[in-house]
Amino acid sequence: MRLVLIGPPGSGKGTQAERLAVRYGVPHLSSGAMLRAAAERDGPLGRMARGYLEQGALVPDDLVMGIVMQELNAADREAGYILDGFPRTLNQAQSLTRELEATSRHLDAVLLLDVPEERIVARLGQRRTCSQCGAVYHLTYNPPRQQDKCDVCGAVGTLIQRCDDKAETIRRRMRVYADQTGPVVNYYRSRGQLFSVNGDDGIEETFERVVQTLEQNIRDKG
Ligand code: AMP
Repeated sequence: MRLVLIGPPGSGKGTQAERLAVRYGVPHLSSGAMLRAAAERDGPLGRMARGYLEQGALVPDDLVMGIVMQELNAADREAGYILDGFPRTLNQAQSLTRELEATSRHLDAVLLLDVPEERIVARLGQRRTCSQCGAVYHLTYNPPRQQDKCDVCGAVGTLIQRCDDKAETIRRRMRVYADQTGPVVNYYRSRGQLFSVNGDDGIEETFERVVQTLEQNIRDKG
């Protein structure tokens, strides 16, 4: 299973990718998580990544390609992957196609999670992420069982607001999404690989829809 999930920031693609990874027994590869991990490390690469992340700007393609392709190729030796947050520019999408075609591989599908903008701003402002294990919560729709304690790893006081989930950065990320990732959506649509799913409902409903769309598409293909 090789799947790409595309959606605006806050569309829930990380949450859906996590569930799909469990369902299909493949790793969830998040380029954002990889870059945040790189930004935590000392040194010039970490500092550079941190600067882009804090501004809500995209990290330059060559830096991203280097980090992502390494993990992608490692996962591909196994059962495939769910890619979350990559590709995000037309250049990244074309590079991914070239890499896959060079070894006669292909994506099974590209899923677009469709969520209206006003919903996104509300969602992201209330998002909290565990700085210890990366688990994601929403203060209203998906709160931790105990306030300020991570359900997944049990750490206390680690539920933080991501530096790029602040209101001004959210608006910047939305603009970046429209400008840079819009062409990626058109690219996959024109290749007949894109499937759009309404992501404006709860986590469970959206997951059912995603799985249905995916299985229908894979059945039809093959
Ligand atoms: P995400 O966790 O997917 O929302 O990504 C968080 C941030 O990481 C983005 O706002 C970008 O700064 C950076 N990022 C993640 N994936 C990419 C990518 N494929 N290309 C460039 N920057 C990325």
